[in-house]
Amino acid sequence: MSAISFVSGIVRTMDADRPLAEAVAVVDGRIAAVGTTAEVLAATPEHAEVVELDGGAVLPGFIDSHSHPLWGARLSAGVDLGGLTTLESVRHALAAESRRVGPGAWVRGWNLEYAAFGGSAVRGDLLEDAVGGAPTFLMFYDLHTAVATRAALEAAGVSGAREFGDASEIVVGDDGVPTGELREPTAYDLVGSAAPQPTMAEEADLLVATFARFNAVGLTGCAVMDGSERLLDVLEAIERDGELSVRVDVFLWHRPDDDDAAVAARIDLASRGGRRWRVAGVKLFSDGVIDTGTAWLHAPDASGDGLASFWPDWDRYREVIRRYDAAGLHLTTHAVGDRAVDAVLDAYAELPPADDARPRRIEHLEILSDADVRKLAGSGVVASMQPLHMQWRHGDLSDSWATRLGEARAATGFRARDVLDAGVLTVFGSDWPVAGMDPRPNFVWATERSAPSGDGPVFEPHERVSVEEALTAYTRSGALALGATDRGVIRVGAVADLVVLAADPARLSPSDLATVPILRTLIAGLPAPS
Ligand SMILES: [Zn+2]
Repeated sequence: MSAISFVSGIVRTMDADRPLAEAVAVVDGRIAAVGTTAEVLAATPEHAEVVELDGGAVLPGFIDSHSHPLWGARLSAGVDLGGLTTLESVRHALAAESRRVGPGAWVRGWNLEYAAFGGSAVRGDLLEDAVGGAPTFLMFYDLHTAVATRAALEAAGVSGAREFGDASEIVVGDDGVPTGELREPTAYDLVGSAAPQPTMAEEADLLVATFARFNAVGLTGCAVMDGSERLLDVLEAIERDGELSVRVDVFLWHRPDDDDAAVAARIDLASRGGRRWRVAGVKLFSDGVIDTGTAWLHAPDASGDGLASFWPDWDRYREVIRRYDAAGLHLTTHAVGDRAVDAVLDAYAELPPADDARPRRIEHLEILSDADVRKLAGSGVVASMQPLHMQWRHGDLSDSWATRLGEARAATGFRARDVLDAGVLTVFGSDWPVAGMDPRPNFVWATERSAPSGDGPVFEPHERVSVEEALTAYTRSGALALGATDRGVIRVGAVADLVVLAADPARLSPSDLATVPILRTLIAGLPAPS
């Protein structure tokens, strides 16, 4: 039997019946008591560890409602280059990795810092001597940039600049020859996917390490938006040898051109699950992103784009969601543009009423008209939003997102306040590795509509939410959006997935909120690996 109690502090329970308490007791992975320190001590078993909170706060562990952990994990293959701020130290690490993998084999690395290039251009050829000319592919810590050597570019067939449908770029010199710097996923995946792919055991190790990083920022749960059979196999492999340190709800990825056989195969996978993971449902796309003109909008963008869904035939979308729904899967749909949200709500409304155990969801909802907000209000559909994605907006509207939307429509972005006020179950997430996995900066984006540094522009200040609302979106609401009534809440009988912060987040300045130390993360009452 394991037992731990936290006393003499702040417990933010996310339980409407008792939002605040002083102490909480955990026995055998479940909440055993919540209340005053005296009440909790009285309910604490004799052998239990008792932790004085000393100004600290306990909350339900954070749930990232939109993430891609296996994709992100794959990006962290090879040697960890974190903390190496000189080219010399990076070369040293690469030489060692090259010896480890053997002559000529691909050298991979991640967590590379820009400082390693000392402020000058990122170039692959600077690394070639260290690896004896072996193909080498290194990911920067922010997952926005990678650098590849000439041998790696050659193996991937990359010999010059290319046009991408998004912000991705193969950086080339004046001579048109790639320098090795690769910006954003579509460009770097081109080269990264030319490397030998990891085995199942290697992927399991990468995912375990990734979930330890999740735990370090207080995450104990995530909804995975690009579920594949491979992911299910990897999760199963991890649970064969141990326990997952993050609870995983998988949404299987349906592509618009998937045929009936693919739908049937996915329905067959829906029964798979383990101790801390399960297939929750299916994720579909209705549109793309605003920046590239592929979001589906009520009115065209400044380039005349935005008038189409991702589906050649929208009736096919309506048909496949009916089949998935009838098979008992949760439905969630990527809808960035306002017209996409409207169309998905109409399509969901044609289905039999949803039950609380599997609420239907929409991912992103980046812009919404007033009418869309009203329609959302009565729909029972969950809004899964990423306030953190405002980080790519510019105050002067010079970014491609605002340029395409124009000033008036850009001001209808990320309407978290209006959506909450409409009574919509609203959850937050990161979309990691698209944006950082750490919930704390996301809280600040939601509450301040501005960067945690405090020196950036403020976007639509009337759309601010309170810290309590942001925390709820990352805990209780995240659980309810997965139909999990005994998670995301601190009340007797609930699962003891907890995070301990050094201070009460609701009483911190924005910059302190973004960096408040995470003292412990517990899953089922036990310390998550660190
Ligand atoms: Zn995503």
